[in-house]
Amino acid sequence: MSEKGESGTAISARLREQSFDELETRRFDCAIIGGGITGAGIAREATLRGLSVALIEAEDFASGTSSRSSKLIHGGLRYLAQGEVKLVRETALERKRVHRMAPHLAEPAWMVVPVHSRAGLLKFRAAIGAYEKLGAVADADRHRNWTGEELAREEPALDRKRYPFACAYREYVTDDARLVLANLRAAVGRGAVAINHASVRELVCESGAATGVVAECGLTGRRVRVRAATIVNAAGPWVEAVRRLEDPAAKSVLHLSKGVHVVVPQEKLPVRNLLILTASDRRSVFAIPRGDVVYLGTTDTSYSAAATLWPAIDLSDVAYLLEPLTRYLSTGPLSPNDCVGAWAGLRPLVAQKGKAAVEISRRDEIWIGPAGVVTVAGGKLTGYRRMANDVVDRVFVLMGRTATLPASDEDEVLPGGAFSGDLATLAAELAANPKIHQSAAERLARLYGAEAHEVLALGSEAVVSGGSLLRGEVEWAVEREGAARLEDVLYRRTRVALYGAALREPLVQPVADLMALRLGWDEARSSLEVARVRKQLRADLSFNDDKDAASGVH
Ligand code: FAD
Repeated sequence: MSEKGESGTAISARLREQSFDELETRRFDCAIIGGGITGAGIAREATLRGLSVALIEAEDFASGTSSRSSKLIHGGLRYLAQGEVKLVRETALERKRVHRMAPHLAEPAWMVVPVHSRAGLLKFRAAIGAYEKLGAVADADRHRNWTGEELAREEPALDRKRYPFACAYREYVTDDARLVLANLRAAVGRGAVAINHASVRELVCESGAATGVVAECGLTGRRVRVRAATIVNAAGPWVEAVRRLEDPAAKSVLHLSKGVHVVVPQEKLPVRNLLILTASDRRSVFAIPRGDVVYLGTTDTSYSAAATLWPAIDLSDVAYLLEPLTRYLSTGPLSPNDCVGAWAGLRPLVAQKGKAAVEISRRDEIWIGPAGVVTVAGGKLTGYRRMANDVVDRVFVLMGRTATLPASDEDEVLPGGAFSGDLATLAAELAANPKIHQSAAERLARLYGAEAHEVLALGSEAVVSGGSLLRGEVEWAVEREGAARLEDVLYRRTRVALYGAALREPLVQPVADLMALRLGWDEARSSLEVARVRKQLRADLSFNDDKDAASGVH
């Protein structure tokens, strides 16, 4: 699917058959199973070190856990309380690197911790001081304390009678799915072949050693055998299913944990910064503003059923996330009926005997199977680059080769990351176009970074009048980012399904029509795509179907 020429990093959904041809005819150094952040990071790292790579993703890129996170590139302050000093330090330093590589995908923001008393503030400042030291936080980004008028100005919705103090420290907000795409495109720019909607069904072994995989296209049924010197299993919550292709008796290594987020309109929850609230069980819940909405998350409950892309969101999950609002904000309670979007994902945690999901370390682990397949799981979005480094080191050992190129150049900018100044400056540049509203410019800057100019050049008119989604974004998603299904565009390339609230339903058919033109869909295929997305959009908010229960929960 890589289209060299105009843009070497393009993944074009129009050229899928060519990608399958390449997968079938080339012999790769490394075949990666899974196109979440783990697989995408490994693909980028391996190509940077000179390896040829094929990446095969069963559904869409980032359709698993890597589009369902809290979307924070963070040092994980709460892991400090669990004594995970090494993890905190490593992730705090990694987030700086991600910011340098893709400033549009690691946007600095203040995380506000409301505090009851002066003594509480002092205690918190001691912890945050240690955290900032571990992460070598720059002076300008060090925490600040807000009280009185300053707090009223900075976070007016906070109930200042209960919380007269607040400490604000730096975190970075990302778009997880787009971070995956940026890494994948960087790998494709160095010759990798990346295909989505193609599931690995079998492992090919010769004399007991894995020498390839059989992948099946989920759209056409085409099956190809992909030959590779090494195989990496980066299938997230599904790593165990893939391990059993290699060793049917492989023991369980994962403990899955479900995490839910809900989305409410900004006008009902007018927070300005990222906010940490304490839930009824003393866990932290984040409130994160994004454009016209705020999302709240997350839950952390053990999930014992088979891994699925769409874990059910229960009314109890939603009630848990909304409950703290009544204790922190002066804006009154919200009910599940106020939610305009929701998502749930599964954390692929490395199991620790006797520990509940909330207590399990977020560390990652690598296993080498009997046929030499490298399996990797655990970790965090934030630490993906270091994880990828470790996996590629193992790949070189398995190949019996010495890496001739050094581990990744941390300053190599990801697609979209090459702009000077901050996101606000980029948005102002985009808003200089009279057709682009300020809010649309901000959204485009966040999603596409420097590439927003190219997106606009593909079509700056709105897909539906009054909406902010532009025709160029749909074209870009298909031609540059491999979007082959309607869901890919609405859920992961543009985030309309997550943050679009009222406008997403009117967009479903027009976006399908644009994709149909590009991809040559017939009537039946278009109808199928539309029906699938509508069904999922309804399912996202189906916790409200029990209307009586929903209106009674505060
Ligand atoms: P996935 O993203 O699930 O990718 C695995 C992929 O493998 C899937 O796309 C799947 O379709 C594919 N696959 C499976 N089987 C096959 C097959 N047979 N053939 C081909 N492909 C296959 N981390 C942070 O740093 N910050 C956060 O704010 C944060 N918040 C989180 C909040 C929640 C609710 C959750 C659940 C996690 C959060 N995390 C966060 C952790 C982070 O999201 C995960 O660690 C990370 O996304 C895992 O990525 P992955 O690539 O390993 O798995």
